[in-house]
Amino acid sequence: MAGAVERVTLTHLQIPLKEPLRVSGGEVAIKDAILVAVETGHGIGLGECSPMTAGLVDPCDMPERCWDDLALRIAPDLIGWAFGAVEEIAERAEAWAGCSRFAVAGAETACWDLLGQARHATIAELLGASLDQLDRGVESGLSLGLYPTIVELLRAIEAHMDEGYRRVKIRVRPGQDVELVRAVRQHFGEELPLMVDANGAYTSADLDVFRELDGFDLLMFEQPMAADDLDGLIALQKAVATPVCLDETVGRPDKTAEAIRLGACRIVNLKLQRLGGFGPALALHDLCYRHGVACWVGSMPELGVGQAQGIHLAALGNCKYPSDLQPSARWFVDDIVVPLIEHAIPGLLRIPTRPGLGYLIDPAKVRRYQVRHLEVTAPRG
Ligand SMILES: [Mg+2]
Repeated sequence: MAGAVERVTLTHLQIPLKEPLRVSGGEVAIKDAILVAVETGHGIGLGECSPMTAGLVDPCDMPERCWDDLALRIAPDLIGWAFGAVEEIAERAEAWAGCSRFAVAGAETACWDLLGQARHATIAELLGASLDQLDRGVESGLSLGLYPTIVELLRAIEAHMDEGYRRVKIRVRPGQDVELVRAVRQHFGEELPLMVDANGAYTSADLDVFRELDGFDLLMFEQPMAADDLDGLIALQKAVATPVCLDETVGRPDKTAEAIRLGACRIVNLKLQRLGGFGPALALHDLCYRHGVACWVGSMPELGVGQAQGIHLAALGNCKYPSDLQPSARWFVDDIVVPLIEHAIPGLLRIPTRPGLGYLIDPAKVRRYQVRHLEVTAPRG
């Protein structure tokens, strides 16, 4: 229906962040993204593979490995392939087993964009979002990294207060936790919707830290313990009233299902990159719904194509908390999408209404920030 794939264009982009993103495992100052353009005779589908650098993700999800997966395995496999249903996209993506989920997400999401264009439907509609969800829009939350001092953290929050974000997420790590939360509560009050993300930095020896944090009326504890430490997560969720949210664990599908079944969490952060695209994200969203576990949409953060994808995903009914999706101007000195990602009203992102992803890219900006470029087409003759 969308025609056979004639060309896949990969463009590795690097755009500086306005401030480094620091988490417990490391920091990043430049955004790496691989733009994936999948072209048929009828149109071009856009996807983004949004890898991270050392310390923030597993080694297999770093830019070099993602580039190789896309260039050597995934792009050649797409050439000549025709598809007309999301099930066919899922089947094709299964053939990319062993590749980084981030690389798979880059190509899988581009195919959803093409399918939406062919069907004159938005990706949110293809996913099954209802009309009133589409009307409501998507709540945008402010996400902040670690700062060298409490004063700098408070200043960073202050700098964004008038943008209307629907909640604030701060990073914590052992030794920088209760004091940070207490300072934010004292400075901004009890009413501020607030959550913490530990990026897996604690162990079950730290339950007392979370018992103390439990008194600050936080929305959730995001990934308090390591991705595969289900025993620690279960013990914590039993010990506190604040919901535990999975993030890094979600990169391990077997562990995620087990964690949900065993009550290790009450909330799951859906990330298209970690999950490998819309199909797996929708499946996890539905699994969570069946178990009474709420979702929300996180970000790596991605450039505009990835943020726009997240907006479509966050239109699903079981996405019940504000997202980490933020305007282009929040993290990056520039962005490649047209229009830029912006709040429609303070703290709210509108779901695009044009078919597919609903965003275009600015070719001049893509050229400006590209560090590597590859076109894959059918072999001649
Ligand atoms: Mg997280």
